[in-house]
Amino acid sequence: MQVPLLDLKAQYRAIKTEIDRAVAEVFESQYFILGPKVQSCEEKLAQYCRCPHAIGVSSGTDALLIALMVEGIGPGDEVITPPHSFFATAGCVARVGAKPVFVDVDPATFNLRPDLIEAAITPRTRAIIPVHLFGQMADMDPIMEIAARRKLIVIEDAAQALGSEYKGRRAGSIGHYGCFSFFPSKNLGAAGDAGLVTALDAERAEKLRVFRAHGSKPKYFHKVIGGNFRLDALQAAVVEAKLPHLDGWTAKRQENAARYNELFAKSGLVERKKISCPVEAPQRRHIYNQYIVRVERRDELQKHLTTAGIGNEIYYPVPFHLQECFAYLGGKAGDFPMSESAANTTLAIPVYPELTAAQQEYVVSTITGFYR
Ligand SMILES: *Cc1c(COP(=O)(O)O)cnc(C)c1O
Repeated sequence: MQVPLLDLKAQYRAIKTEIDRAVAEVFESQYFILGPKVQSCEEKLAQYCRCPHAIGVSSGTDALLIALMVEGIGPGDEVITPPHSFFATAGCVARVGAKPVFVDVDPATFNLRPDLIEAAITPRTRAIIPVHLFGQMADMDPIMEIAARRKLIVIEDAAQALGSEYKGRRAGSIGHYGCFSFFPSKNLGAAGDAGLVTALDAERAEKLRVFRAHGSKPKYFHKVIGGNFRLDALQAAVVEAKLPHLDGWTAKRQENAARYNELFAKSGLVERKKISCPVEAPQRRHIYNQYIVRVERRDELQKHLTTAGIGNEIYYPVPFHLQECFAYLGGKAGDFPMSESAANTTLAIPVYPELTAAQQEYVVSTITGFYR
């Protein structure tokens, strides 16, 4: 049996006519950059995120970058991020010339530890970027409380968390900015690179629109230096066509996660402490962009799964403070033990919506066989 980590062909087969029609409409219009398709997609996403403003951009990475640019964050400034995330979270901070300052993550949820933030704040700190890793939101109340008291901007890295909730509030609707990605492997994937920034206030939303098009307003008059961060109409059409399916896909991912939890419990592996399943923090809607297990002898298990035809991935093998490109920050092994442990002991296994119960049983029996 083959079990891929993700099966986008199965998804496409199920909704082919809708996608093909949406794409054909864009070709008929020959309107490829911004325009009415992007606008209607933005309106639907704003509604979905329960946020007043949503601005389509070229990628999740550019979403983070443009939010930092709009705030004028740059050389001499510091921005707090977790060390355990996709590279873009910290890469963007360095790209605007600011310094990433790392704060460790919670060992159960892999999200930023609010109780460790204050110790990392200096007079140069401008912003905090909590990441809603794997589809579960960070503990936003204490983060927002610290930010308000210390006058910091909060940029939610919600790239893996479209539709995720914290105390009934959606990802992207709590911080000053919410940054989303439609990279094909996210829960809602475009047909290439695409992203979105949400904002609560109208002034920031307007600035995001101006910065997205070279800082031009009116056309050819530049008060600020922006970039080309525009969303393509083709990508907007694909995202808009897929959006009505997202809640159904999320429900499937949640069912699959629950089935794994049950199967792993029955296997005895949890009791024998060979594996721990993902933890859902209270008052969250976890959308399971990934199902992450913490396991004994991770690297050996990974080889075993790959040999058995089971897709898997290490998200992420090297925390930021140990990345070569951040050596200038002076990080060393032992600085962020929770992030290092996550990098060394966790593994993603398939949880995509089209996964069958039989495939999940095969995954669990293969893992059980490994620890026999
Ligand atoms: C995917 C991702 C990004 C970047 O999104 P792109 O669209 O690939 O540029 C940023 N942060 C996190 C946590 C991500 O998972």
